[in-house]
Amino acid sequence: MQFEMQGRMAKKKCSAIMNLIHEFEKRHGKIRGSVKLLAVTKNQSVENIQTAIDEGQFSFGESYLQEALPKIEFFSSQKNLEWHFIGSIQANKTKKIAENFSWVQSVNSIQIAKRLHEQRPDFLPPLNICLQVNVSGEKTKSGIPLNEVVTLATECSSLSRIKLRGLMTVPAAKNNFDEQRTQLHPLKLMFDELNAAGFELDTLSMGMSDDMEAAIAEGATMVRIGTAIFGTRKK
Ligand SMILES: *Cc1c(COP(=O)(O)O)cnc(C)c1O
Repeated sequence: MQFEMQGRMAKKKCSAIMNLIHEFEKRHGKIRGSVKLLAVTKNQSVENIQTAIDEGQFSFGESYLQEALPKIEFFSSQKNLEWHFIGSIQANKTKKIAENFSWVQSVNSIQIAKRLHEQRPDFLPPLNICLQVNVSGEKTKSGIPLNEVVTLATECSSLSRIKLRGLMTVPAAKNNFDEQRTQLHPLKLMFDELNAAGFELDTLSMGMSDDMEAAIAEGATMVRIGTAIFGTRKK
């Protein structure tokens, strides 16, 4: 794979987003530092990723396996980086995902969870996973409905080579802050319900460039930001 210069570097953009996150944490009564930033680097060059690393960013999200693998390889000498797979998962891709990522946020079936468990190499720590939930019911969106979350979480917790860390969602696009909050709220309730039932979840991954404040207001612990850091993606 060729890495081309895109001439559009993410100078100081991660720190600008971190400042914004801190402002939203404060505005909505959250503890400073309680929300982590995942920099979403799909369609971004290694130069842009390096610029983000230079700013202290270490966790990155990728959606397409074929695109991600050469990037992960390129940065393999930097041991502190954390790669999160956030795209839709085909069964024939699970082995490479289990071997190369430290997190998979888009688990949406027990079949996929079992494959990741079986294929996670022994020399690596258990693979961190989130269950992807479809909160808005759109047919085009991936993820399980809310009423299947407890069952899948229970099934996943018996698989030793994966570690259930939390829930993730990509909601329907809404422009209105209150509507954004309303559709994220049930996921926060489900997150709290699972923890009350004894699951030890620490990750509620919701909030993208256009609904980051609503997600933080609703209790996100991780926001996944691409466009607001790197600019509009080249298609
Ligand atoms: C692309 C993507 C993001 C980032 O979206 P932006 O609107 O560019 O911030 C977050 N989560 C997932 C699952 C994505 O595919």
